[in-house]
Amino acid sequence: MSKPINMRRCVVCRQVRHKSELIRVAKNSAGKISVDEIGGRGAYVCKSATCAAVLFKRRNFDKVFKVKVSDEVYDSIKEKILMK
Ligand SMILES: [Zn+2]
Repeated sequence: MSKPINMRRCVVCRQVRHKSELIRVAKNSAGKISVDEIGGRGAYVCKSATCAAVLFKRRNFDKVFKVKVSDEVYDSIKEKILMK
């Protein structure tokens, strides 16, 4: 069996899914958090309303990146999830 290289884990539900079903959020070397950018340290959340609701309540990315992630970042994640 080949290695599932395009599989990533959602920070909310901990399920492993294909990259295309997830939104990537990354922290670059300057500590800036951005959505859908290549590079930096990435973390993922499902494009699902269920995971989104939990994400906005718990702000999981704050813990993942060990910084206070701004409302703008969460807003753009929300937009992307609703846009699908
Ligand atoms: Zn999820």
